[in-house]
Formats: sequence, structure tokens, C-alpha cells
Amino acid sequence: MKNTFPDYFKEFRCIADKCPDTCCAGWEVVVDGESLKKYSELEGSYVQTLRSRIAVDSDGDSIFTPIKGRCPFLLDNGLCEMYIEIGKDSLCKTCRLFPRHITYFGARIETGISLSCPEAARLILQDKKIEFSTEESDGFPEPTSIDPNLYFTLLEARKTSIDVLQNRNFSIEKRISVFLLLCNEISPFVRRNDCDSVRKILKKDFLSVEFSEFGQSRANRLNSKLLKDFSSLEMLDMQWKSALENAFLNDSFNKPHGTENEFENLMVYFVFRYFMLAVFDKNLITKAKFAVVSFLVIRRLILCVENEKPERIKVMQRYSKEVEHSALNMDYLETQLKKSRCYGVENLINLLQEK
Ligand code: SF4
Repeated sequence: MKNTFPDYFKEFRCIADKCPDTCCAGWEVVVDGESLKKYSELEGSYVQTLRSRIAVDSDGDSIFTPIKGRCPFLLDNGLCEMYIEIGKDSLCKTCRLFPRHITYFGARIETGISLSCPEAARLILQDKKIEFSTEESDGFPEPTSIDPNLYFTLLEARKTSIDVLQNRNFSIEKRISVFLLLCNEISPFVRRNDCDSVRKILKKDFLSVEFSEFGQSRANRLNSKLLKDFSSLEMLDMQWKSALENAFLNDSFNKPHGTENEFENLMVYFVFRYFMLAVFDKNLITKAKFAVVSFLVIRRLILCVENEKPERIKVMQRYSKEVEHSALNMDYLETQLKKSRCYGVENLINLLQEK
């Protein structure tokens, strides 16, 4: 098995009680079958407590029964009671894995860490350019029906996209616009499995493209649509809704300064995480639009906080927690990005030029 991962992946360590947030509140922890079996075989004085805190939810999944929205094992000091009482190996798969994510592509895997964890966000949003490595790893290939030619073509296309996004000779808005344009051009050929045409397009000099003047009325329409769609999402924290309203109802838009490298790494994070999923559904443009729309919303939200790096990181982490961690929210946005003409490539590029 080959594993591809970003350079910050191996640096990650959970900071537990030093964490300004927690991953043990606000959502349900689903317990995997292997852990359930382990819990049923455990012996000792803590076992009864452990078992009494597992229930079956309305989807039929076994979960740790939350108490006031928090994991029942989460102590007031931010530590895990189960970990303290019966050790690290007792943790279920979700808790052992988070915030790491793994995507399987047959004999290859990709691993990363999720922006929704504050410590992961700090590592992802450093100033340096993100680099990627591929190493041999343990494990067995998963059965897959992916087309190898399309897979390797998309790998090339993702590499070109990341090179564009990391080209610091251009403004971040221009780089993101070019990325979107590139994905838009190759997208119909990806859909048709026409890998030769994709490879031909990738040779074009996209960065020489000049973008037209920014049109305010179109930008206003798209901003209203973004506010409407993001306000309709399922929310973990209702304050996020007010933050969105403040961000989009604030007419005086001033591009935040000093943020180019963070935005670059934010975009590279989204591209690394979602681009290759097009090998399964061939819907590349929606994944590119999701990255761009995320940037546009986060850029607006950042205008409403102090323009300091820790505050900006908090905004990006919160966005990820609210949006990326809800399958319902991701499905809703995907539908909107596919069907609404408001999210046309031209409109998005127009809004990217907002100054
Ligand atoms: S959110 Fe991240 S740093 Fe905080 S407790 Fe969870 S894994 Fe650890």
C-alpha cells in the first residue's frame, strides 16, 4: 500500500486539556463493532459504567450517550475519563482516529488531518508551503472499481492545481480564479473519461489569463445567495449564524491583509481532501466550487474578527466544524452548487475579484 500525506500530518499530537475547543462535544460518537466487542469482553470495576453509557440511536448506530451535548466520558478538565480509567487502547475507532481522515483508492490511500480540530488547524495554516510525501504503509488494498487511467490523470490535474495555488508570484484571488477556470475546463472531459484531452488542457498557461472587471450587482446577488445557503445549514452553535449575518450584511468589504499564505494553505487543504474524490463520481467542478465558496465565506467571516492570526485560524476551524463535519450540510451545499446558476464559474470568479 502507498500512503500520500501532507507534511504536517506526522506533526499532529492531540493537545487534550490544552485544547481551546473539544472534539468530544456537539456531535455523537458512533462506536464501531470491533470496539463494542472489546467492551463486551472487558472485565474490571469500570466496565459497568462504560457499558451503561452506550445506547443505540435512531439510525441503529451504537453511540456514547451524550450528556448535555457532551461525550459522557469528557471530564470538566477536558480529559477523557475512559482513557484515564482503562487506557488508550480502550478508545473506539472514531476517537483513536480523529482528527485524522483516510481515503482509500484501491492499493493507495491518502491521509490528512481535519481543519475542525484547533491543533490541526494551527498546523495546516502555517506560513510555509505545504508539501506532500508518499510512503509504503501497512494494510491491504481495498477492492475498488476506479479507472486507473482516470485516477492518474486526476493526480496530475491535482498537482497542477496545487502548483497554481502555491505560485506566490500572483495574488491569492488570481490563483484561486485560475484554479477554478482550470477545473471548469477539464471537468467535461473528466466526466467523459477523456484523459488525453484533460492532459492536453493541463499544458495551457492558465496563469496568463486576465480576469475582467468586478461587477458589483452580480457580486451582491452571489453574496445574498451565500448567506441564504449557509444560514440554512444545520448548526452546532447558533452564534455561527449571527457571525454569518454580520459578515454578509456588512457592506464595507475590505480585503483582509496578511492572509495570503493562510488562504493558500486553506485552499490546498480543500484540494488535497476533495479533488481526488472525482475519481468516484466524476463531478470535479462541484468539488472545486466547494473549495472556492468556502474561501469566499471564510474571507467574509474574517472581516468581522480582529485581523490576528489566532482569530483567523479560529474562524477557519469553526467553519470546518460547522460545515465539513455534517453530512447533511455537505449534501445540501453539493446540491446547491450543482443546480444553482448563481454559483456559475463566471460569478464566482467575479466575486473573487472583490476588493
Ligand atoms: S479537537 Fe483536536 S486537539 Fe482538541 S481534543 Fe480533539 S483531537 Fe485533541
